[in-house]
Amino acid sequence: MTAAVHRLEIPTPFLVGRVNCYLLTGDPLTLVDTGPNSGTALDTLEQGLAAHGVAIEDLELVVLTHQHMDHGGLLEIIGRRSGAEIAAFAPLVPWLAGYTASATADDNFAQALMRQHGVPDEIVTVLGLVATAYRGYGSKSDVSRPLADGDALSMGGRQFTVLHRPGHSPSDLVFFEEQTGLLIGGDHLIGHISSNAIVTRPFGGPVDAPRPRPLMDYVASLKATRAMELSEVLAGHGDPVTDHRALIDERMRLHERRAAKIMAMLSSEPLTAHQLAGRIWGNVAVTQAYLTLSEVLGHIDLLLARARVAEVNDGRVTRFRTT
Ligand SMILES: [Zn+2]
Repeated sequence: MTAAVHRLEIPTPFLVGRVNCYLLTGDPLTLVDTGPNSGTALDTLEQGLAAHGVAIEDLELVVLTHQHMDHGGLLEIIGRRSGAEIAAFAPLVPWLAGYTASATADDNFAQALMRQHGVPDEIVTVLGLVATAYRGYGSKSDVSRPLADGDALSMGGRQFTVLHRPGHSPSDLVFFEEQTGLLIGGDHLIGHISSNAIVTRPFGGPVDAPRPRPLMDYVASLKATRAMELSEVLAGHGDPVTDHRALIDERMRLHERRAAKIMAMLSSEPLTAHQLAGRIWGNVAVTQAYLTLSEVLGHIDLLLARARVAEVNDGRVTRFRTT
């Protein structure tokens, strides 16, 4: 008999609502993701664990699906209290060890990207303050078990294969149990919302490296997941996904529709990515300037790859035009 996988729904201060952590009660006693670094999240997590007769101190392995703070914010506290092994994507190890500096560098990258793509200075400044205010929901962590694509990982007495599925973030991992077809998927695939492919500062690498293309990565990752035989995907938010192929097909169609819409908008005049976001989402392009910018740039990247659009840079901002 295999141990059960229990879903613990932990509150977050973010728009996305609750985040799912998963408890695997076999040996090693494993928690996948922790929730954000807040008293409310910690309380809820402790109550959720207690319902299965588990205390934080009992945990033997804590696994991080990706770098976002709603998933890994309690890593430091849980690691200290439990002495559990902490497992995360290997390139993320220095990022987590120097969390505050990493988050600052990420925010600086985001601000430069916003300016380059036409987001007004006052919005960039306000969003910078918001990002700083939220930073405390994350935490540093010392990873003792760096993970790589293809690794075998035993969680709760069950055998999983670690797979790297970048796109939503550069560090997204999913965990595949071949015997049952179960996939613990983090935010790679979410049923009720389309997972954003957020433009994220690459780990290390030269500062003048070309802009990351997360939607291109995400589409490749979705194709790889689509090819798998899966019984169920346990998502980082909301209910399990039972028909991953239908959902992936729906997501692919959404990206194609958005790309077509952007093509139509560019047919009359060159526009910045922020102008495009404003035409698609109105005021949301202001309050969520970075997310909407990431979305637009993702679709632009699909069009750039097909040579349907080109970049025009006037030395200050980048605009896009049809070819
Ligand atoms: Zn998430």
